[in-house]
Amino acid sequence: MMLPTHVLAGLAIALPIATIAPELAPAAFAGAAAGSVLPDLDMYAGHRRTLHFPVYYLPLTSVAAILALAVPMGATVGLAYLFAGAALHCRMDEFGGSLELRPWAERSERGVYDHYNDEWRAPRRLIQYDGSPGDLAMTGLLALPLLVLTGEPVNWLVIAAMLVGITYAVLRKWLADVVEQVIALTPRSIVAYLPGRYRES
Ligand SMILES: [Zn+2]
Repeated sequence: MMLPTHVLAGLAIALPIATIAPELAPAAFAGAAAGSVLPDLDMYAGHRRTLHFPVYYLPLTSVAAILALAVPMGATVGLAYLFAGAALHCRMDEFGGSLELRPWAERSERGVYDHYNDEWRAPRRLIQYDGSPGDLAMTGLLALPLLVLTGEPVNWLVIAAMLVGITYAVLRKWLADVVEQVIALTPRSIVAYLPGRYRES
């Protein structure tokens, strides 16, 4: 799924704590937003593998959640939501499309890398690919409760995520063509250093 969907899903799981303990809301939202972005920092270095841990983020979340319950303060709650956001991100990637330049072609069976079992998990394609109409619909669904239940600055982040999501979804297939044309004009010595999904194009 696309990054805006990940961010809104992360913010959504912070809604309960923000309602129950508003004083911890800033830490919860900040931690969840950072955690939901964190795995995709590997976008150009072993994407969906280097920082994607569909198994290991879960025990980290459990330990951090226990710590947050024992010592409820901004730092512990933020850390718990950081790991929870990252764990959710990796699970969402598994339920999305494959890792390839044109995931709607469904030529790859790489979803997200499972370091525990040392293998790629196949994409389940519940959301066909990042930026698909289904992905955009999910972004909208997640945005609704967030817009109703949060104030500034979270609602601005939600609106920004929605605008980025709409733009990305509209341009998604065209962007793949652009990337392919740019790669065709790029010297092969440089292409060799690009991520696999670009070289395979
Ligand atoms: Zn990801």
